[in-house]
Amino acid sequence: MKDEFDEAELELQEGEVKQFYVTLANDTTEMQSYCTDVDKNTPKGKDEFEMIDSGLCAYCEFKELCGK
Ligand code: SF4
Repeated sequence: MKDEFDEAELELQEGEVKQFYVTLANDTTEMQSYCTDVDKNTPKGKDEFEMIDSGLCAYCEFKELCGK
């Protein structure tokens, strides 16, 4: 027998769906701007990305590829 559960209802305010759509569209456009080929998800060259010292490099899974 499975545990009982209550189904949560999503409460949206007017305009939140439109704002979510705008945020999603903007974020998608920004992510795609880092690709040379969006359909193949091919990223731009490494030298086209700004290198920053954020303190996160020590924990980064991509450090080996990055070379930082
Ligand atoms: S090591 Fe990771 S976090 Fe640091 S610059 Fe490279 S990709 Fe970015």
